[in-house]
Amino acid sequence: MKKIRVTVWNEYRHEPAEPRIAEIYPKGIHGAIADFLGEEPDFEVRTATLDMPEHGLTDEVLNGTDVLLWWGHMAHHEVSDGIAERVKNYVYNRGMGFIPLHSAHMSKPFRMIVGTSGNLLWGNNQHEIVWNLMPSHPIASGIPEYFHLETEEMYGEPFMIPQPDELVFASWFEHGNIFRSGACFYRGLGKVFYFQPGHEECRSFYNENVQKIIKNAVRWAAPGEFTCRYPSSCDFFSKLV
Ligand code: ZN
Repeated sequence: MKKIRVTVWNEYRHEPAEPRIAEIYPKGIHGAIADFLGEEPDFEVRTATLDMPEHGLTDEVLNGTDVLLWWGHMAHHEVSDGIAERVKNYVYNRGMGFIPLHSAHMSKPFRMIVGTSGNLLWGNNQHEIVWNLMPSHPIASGIPEYFHLETEEMYGEPFMIPQPDELVFASWFEHGNIFRSGACFYRGLGKVFYFQPGHEECRSFYNENVQKIIKNAVRWAAPGEFTCRYPSSCDFFSKLV
C-alpha cells in the first residue's frame, strides 16, 4: 500500500512552559495529533518543531512529505521568512497538502499561501457547535450534521481570508458569533484546508469528530498522480513565485 507521508509541525512553546497545557497535551500538541493519525494504516507520520534546525522542515523532510499540518500561536514571528517561503513553494509547485490548524490562521505560511492577513474576531472560550455544510465533501465523510465542542476559543467573522473554494464547516459560538471553521483553498498544484478547533487550553484534538475531519483532510489534501510535463518545470515554476 502506498502510504501518505504526513508531517505534523508544532511550534511547541506552550507545552514546555505551561504545566496546565502540558497536562492536556503531555506529548505536545504535535504528539497528540501524531498519535491519532498514526492509528491509520495508510499514514506514515512524523513530527517537526520550531526549535529544530530549519524548524525541522529541511528540503529532505519536505521532499518526503505529502501533507504538512501546522500548529503555531505565540511564535509566528520566529518562523523564518525563508522556511515559510519554502513551505509555500512545496504547496504551489510540488502539490504538497497543507492543513493549518486553529491559530495557524496568523502563521506566515498560511498568510503567504492564501494571500491575505488571516485576521479574525477573537473572544474567550465558549461552547461551540460545528455545522456540516457539505455532507458530500470528502472531508465531511462520516461527520454528522453538527457536533458539539464543550469549550473552544471563540473565533468570529469577519475572517480575513479569500472567498474559500469550498466551505465545508461553519461554527456557532454561544455568545452569538459565527465563523467559517473549515475552508478549502486550491493553490497552484496544492490543496489547503484550514480548520479552526484546537486551542491549547481545550481538548478538541481528543474529540472523535475533530480527529475524523483531520484524517479525512489528510487524505483529501494528499497530492494525486500529477507529474510535471517537463522534468524541470516544477523547479522552473518555483522560481516564479
Ligand atoms: Zn487559541
